[in-house]
Amino acid sequence: MDNCIFCQIVEGKIPSEKVYEDDDILAFRDLYPAAPVHILVIPKKHISSLLELQEEDQALSGKILLGLQKVARQLGLDEKGFRVVNNTGSDGGQTVFHIHFHLLGGRELQWPPG
Ligand code: 5GP
Ligand code: ZN
Repeated sequence: MDNCIFCQIVEGKIPSEKVYEDDDILAFRDLYPAAPVHILVIPKKHISSLLELQEEDQALSGKILLGLQKVARQLGLDEKGFRVVNNTGSDGGQTVFHIHFHLLGGRELQWPPG
């Protein structure tokens, strides 16, 4: 998708600090970190939000979850824990319409979110 910033990150047209990549997913540091560790895990395939996931994306969904686990371990978040967040739609606070999962850690996180 030409006008999608995360597709452009996948294609290398916009630079990013990648921490993990395979054939299906990409993980990179959030430009405006909300925690000492703040990673975005995305499928390379353009899917605009959680609401747009299809049955055919089942395997990809599992790869994203396992990717989150892999990156959490890689960055040492498995010792003290972490949080995974998906924002969907306007009430959810979604600002980039390419599905992504925030991996947050490196400090004790508050609950509930605002
Ligand atoms: P959302 O608000 O949609 O859940 O999350 C979008 C996230 O993307 C935000 O945390 C924002 O800081 C991050 N972001 C927006 N533009 C860029 C960018 O060009 N590069 C990177 N690395 N992160 C971005
Ligand atoms: Zn996209």
